[in-house]
Amino acid sequence: MKDCLFCKIIAGDIPSDKVYEDDEIFAFNDISPQAPVHVLIIPKAHIPSAADISAENSAVIMKIFEKAAEIANKKNLDGNFRVVTNSGEKAGQSVHHLHFHLLGGRDFSWPPG
Ligand code: AMP
Ligand code: ZN
Repeated sequence: MKDCLFCKIIAGDIPSDKVYEDDEIFAFNDISPQAPVHVLIIPKAHIPSAADISAENSAVIMKIFEKAAEIANKKNLDGNFRVVTNSGEKAGQSVHHLHFHLLGGRDFSWPPG
């Protein structure tokens, strides 16, 4: 999608620190890490937010969670990590291309702020 930051990253028009890529998924290190491990895992398809997940496009979500577990295990997080998506501005979404934050390597509080 034109004018979408993450679509531009997927296309290689904006550089990123890539962690993983296949036909459907792209993963890269967050530019402003909030934990020692902070990877963004995104579908290549432009889905604006979690509010737009439906039966038509949800197969990739399963693959994203499989990949999140694989990356977390590869980074030796020992089962201790958080996967989170912010949907909508009130929840803190700043980039309107669905993305899952994989955070690990420190303790987290609950509930989130
Ligand atoms: P959210 O606020 O949940 O929409 O998350 C967007 C995330 O994208 C933030 O954690 C940003 O630090 C991250 N981000 C923004 N621009 C870039 C970029 N060019 N490369 C990597 N991560 C980015
Ligand atoms: Zn996009």
